[in-house]
Order: sequence, then structure tokens, then C-alpha cells
Amino acid sequence: MKEITLIPGDGIGTEVTAAVQKVLTAANQSIAWEIVNGGEGAYQATGQYIPDALLDSISTNKIAFKGPITTPIGKGFKSINVTLRQKYNTFANVRPVKSMEGIKTPFNNVDLVIIRENSEDLYCGIEHLVTEGVAESIKVITEKASLRIGEYAFQYAKKHGRNKVTSVHKANIMKISDGLFLDCIRRVAKKYPEIEYEEVIVDNMCMQLVMYPEKYDVLVLPNLYGDIVSDLAAGLVGGLGLVPGANIGEDIAIFEAVHGSAPQIAGKNEANPTACILSAAMMLDYINERSAADLIREAVAYVIREGKHTTKDIGGNATTEEMTEAICSYIRTVSINAAG
Ligand code: ATP
Repeated sequence: MKEITLIPGDGIGTEVTAAVQKVLTAANQSIAWEIVNGGEGAYQATGQYIPDALLDSISTNKIAFKGPITTPIGKGFKSINVTLRQKYNTFANVRPVKSMEGIKTPFNNVDLVIIRENSEDLYCGIEHLVTEGVAESIKVITEKASLRIGEYAFQYAKKHGRNKVTSVHKANIMKISDGLFLDCIRRVAKKYPEIEYEEVIVDNMCMQLVMYPEKYDVLVLPNLYGDIVSDLAAGLVGGLGLVPGANIGEDIAIFEAVHGSAPQIAGKNEANPTACILSAAMMLDYINERSAADLIREAVAYVIREGKHTTKDIGGNATTEEMTEAICSYIRTVSINAAG
């Protein structure tokens, strides 16, 4: 039985990770979940935001499924999300963003994969007050991390039959740091002549995406632009409740939705479980349980297309639990039909 660390997280985290457990059970995945919390909940229980037991569990299991964890704004502890990504060197953050039938948005033709560099840039957290009224943040871009994310993006494109990689930057202003990022991606691109390569400045990219999202395929971005463009792209397909994600390292992977802890709707049974459920499907791909992953994606697509059991954020009136049950029910029906 596969052991996987489960971090329920804060806010809507408990609700959406419970949905994941139910769906994987319906899909006949015998997973031994090792449940260890991090974040606010963990702090109240153990006095540590990232308990040692959590770190030990991820180091041992090598795979974790993580609910969203709240990071206080402007003060308090360093983001746990960033800390975990840096500690386990999960250098690539992969976020597929795809239009779904049944979701009302101005677009029905979005099919992007965002590959965000996950280990450096302004997320290094090197900040200080130079003097009263003057603050400085250091943006770190290295050749090593930029070549590594470029290689990951092109390999991903090759493996998934994608035709184009677009690197996103602001090298017209940050000539040295973003210039280095761009130079590294160009060097990698030369090794893949079969894949089209282009470069777009980040502000233009935002406009292009809200006007012509269908023109883009795989995007590779430094950490901060990747964070911002991911939320923008989620908006193109119906919102943060729908977009999954994976943090991939050399031998450790942490799966989590793009969204945060959404405290305004926490505890109301209103959160859309789709983003987390699709992140779990990415986790099954990662452990080579492809047919279960495909069945879960098919079930989610069916429930959203049918529109009878969907949550408020995408125009329905079902609860988190009702939408989850509809997805599980589809999976069980297909599995029974296949068996009998
Ligand atoms: P955090 O501080 O943890 O990032 P946040 O509320 O600032 O939390 P998000 O959780 O990313 O940021 O969400 C922004 C908004 O998107 C939320 O207020 C909520 O309305 C919506 N949202 C996010 N995730 C979901 C979801 N799974 N289901 C429904 N709505 C969601």
C-alpha cells in the first residue's frame, strides 16, 4: 500500500482534502494516508507551524498531498508553502489550465500548462529595511535553476506532445536577472528544434492571455510572474476552484491546488473541491496510476458538464460534499460497469 503524507491545511483545506480522500477511495486507490498538519491548525496543536513530524513524514514518504495553508500578510512567519518547496527542492511548479465544458467564461479554448520556477526569485525572502522609509528585497536568479526549469519545460512539452514553449520575462527592465533567465531558456530551446520557442514580456503576456489565450501552450516563468500569471489563467477557465498543481523535485513531489485557504468560505461546505481532486489525479499520474487518474478527470468533467451538482463559484448550488459525492458516484458506476 502506498504511503502518502496528507496535510489538511487551513481554511477550506480540511474540506477539500477530505474530498480527495473520498474520490481516491471511490477510484479504488489503496493509499495509507499519513495525516500530519502544518500551518495555523498545527501551531495551535503543537506550537510549531511546520512540525518535525510533518518534515519526517514527507522525507520518508517522498510524496505529499497538501491542502492550502494561510500565510499572514505583511508580518509573521515565513510562508510554509515556500519553506516546503525550498526544503524539498521541488523546483518545478506545474499548473495545467484547461477550459471545461459547462463553465461559463468568455473562452472555451484555453489549454495551457504553466511551468513556474519554484525555488528562487523574490521568494528567497531576502528583505531588509535599508533605513527608515526605505525597504529592499533581493531577487535571486541563478543559471543553475533557470537551466533546470527550462529543461523541465521542454521535456514536459516533448513528453506531452505540446508544440510550443513561451518564456515570460521582464528582461527589458531587469536586464541582468531576467536577462540571465531568458538567456538560459534560449540555450535550452536550441536543444529542442522540434518545439517552437518564443518570448513574451510579462505585462504583454497578461494582455495576450485575456485576449488570445488559445495562442499559448506551455509557459515557463520565473517564480513571481508564475504565481501571478497562474491566477490570471485560472480566471480564464472559471476560477481558482478549478486549477490543479504539482510541485516536482528530483525525488519528492508535493501536490496542491493553485488556490489558497479562502478563509471567507471556510467551514461553509461551499468550496469547490475540483482543484484539489484534479491535483490528486496529477499525483496518480506521477505514481503511474494512469487509468485511475483518467477516470477521475472524466468524472470531474462529467459532473461539471452536467451542471447538477456543482458549487456556487461555478454557478451551481451544491455543497462541497454533494459535488464530491457526484464525482464518486460517477467513478463507482463506471468501475462497476467495467467489472461486470
Ligand atoms: P490565502 O491567504 O490562503 O491565499 P485567499 O482567500 O487570499 O487565501 P485564495 O484562497 O487563493 O486566496 O482565494 C481567493 C478567492 O478565490 C477566495 O476568496 C475565494 O472566493 C475563491 N476561491 C479560492 N479557492 C476556491 C475554491 N476551492 N472554491 C471556491 N472558491 C474559491
